[in-house]
Amino acid sequence: MGGGISGLSTALSICGKMDATILLIEKGEIGDSSKTSPFTFPDVIKQFNLSDAVLQKYTRFTYKSPTGVSASFEYEIPAFVTINYQKMCNILLNRVRKAGSVTVLDNVAALDLEETRTLFSTESLKLTLSNSDKISCDILVDASGSSFFAATKLGLKLPALYSHPFGEFLEACKIEDPTELCIFTGNKYGNGGGWFYPIDGRTARFGFAAITKSRTFPKDVVENNLKKAIHDFYPYNEMLMGSKCKRTEFGTIPIGSLQRFVWGRILIVGDAAGQATPWYQEGIRPALEGGQLCGETIVEAYKRGSFRRKFLMKYQHIWDDKNKQSYAYAKERATSYFRNQEQWDNSVRYQASLTPREMMGIIRYCHFPRMRSSVSSRNFHSSGFAKIFRETILKIHGKIKR
Ligand SMILES: Cc1cc2nc3c(=O)[nH]c(=O)nc-3n(C[C@H](O)[C@H](O)[C@H](O)COP(=O)(O)OP(=O)(O)OC[C@H]3O[C@@H](n4cnc5c(N)ncnc54)[C@H](O)[C@@H]3O)c2cc1C
Repeated sequence: MGGGISGLSTALSICGKMDATILLIEKGEIGDSSKTSPFTFPDVIKQFNLSDAVLQKYTRFTYKSPTGVSASFEYEIPAFVTINYQKMCNILLNRVRKAGSVTVLDNVAALDLEETRTLFSTESLKLTLSNSDKISCDILVDASGSSFFAATKLGLKLPALYSHPFGEFLEACKIEDPTELCIFTGNKYGNGGGWFYPIDGRTARFGFAAITKSRTFPKDVVENNLKKAIHDFYPYNEMLMGSKCKRTEFGTIPIGSLQRFVWGRILIVGDAAGQATPWYQEGIRPALEGGQLCGETIVEAYKRGSFRRKFLMKYQHIWDDKNKQSYAYAKERATSYFRNQEQWDNSVRYQASLTPREMMGIIRYCHFPRMRSSVSSRNFHSSGFAKIFRETILKIHGKIKR
């Protein structure tokens, strides 16, 4: 249930592999273009065969604060890509349809869930839909994103923090380097950071996020922050002068995973399980990978002839082995979203000391390097950094136990 990336990825890894009927329920349109044109990584695109959805490739990555402190990294081959979300969903949906045994219900929402349990197992699962249908199923995959359909119905503890990104897809820009992907930090335009993803010399996505403890989207705050940034965040204000907004892109990303993703015969995946990385709120790769893992586990359980929880828990175990440590570490550091501007700037200075490979380790896996790289080889954009750098390293090394 949920026709976003994680729901489609789950369906794709089930379709055609077992003799079962899959119902894909989406409350809106599959591939809603107001959602995002996100960045992800070329190897992920290759793995999921999504190259037709790529909008742009990047060989330069810049991490920048509104005060101007920045860290830039060059990569010999493209290290990041941005994708057309709608196209990606359509590619996945077409593959799901081609593989067969699937019925797609769009513009239909799941409204209610009835679960009958005995002490050790789920007896029956019933969904009530907005078109008044009631459906019984063997397995329910909840891929409902920040709606948290199953978690809400089951009364599970939800993540404590939420990122609320708001951006614009802008045309008629004058972009200096369309192969440079920029991520912003600091709290001037939103404590959730921001992004500048050029698509070509004239088109870009630009936005910021606010992080709050509430799931309610703070529309006025994020809209005003973006307005301010377009007006006065140098050099983007100059690149965007006279540009036109093609559409807005916004939503809410949960920060921090649920404690468990498998509840009886209900499996939770993607943003609905809080699988976007808590350190960068990167949710596309986790949604694709989480969906694949969830689907493979269901197929395996089906082949064993049993949907008992102990077989379905394989999904959780594999995910935990790969991710639990980084997500737990990031959760511990979640208060850093509320730090002051100087602390943000120091963290950029620290990251400016890293090699491109080390920086990639942080972005993807929250892996901070044990050893320092050569400072002189990096691009520093601030004066008097040495003292702050030493202090930051001491602080960071004091905290990281790896
Ligand atoms: C503005 C913005 C920018 C982002 N930028 C990036 C980025 O650069 N890189 C990156 O990796 N990630 C980015 N993300 C995060 C990424 O988009 C998400 O983490 C990812 O899309 C999660 O996929 P999902 O399928 O789990 O959830 P979603 O994409 O939220 O899909 C959930 C689906 O379930 C449907 N649904 C909800 N409730 C019900 C119901 N009751 N019945 C039926 N259907 C229901 C919804 O309509 C929706 O289509 C961004 C997000 C936003 C909003």
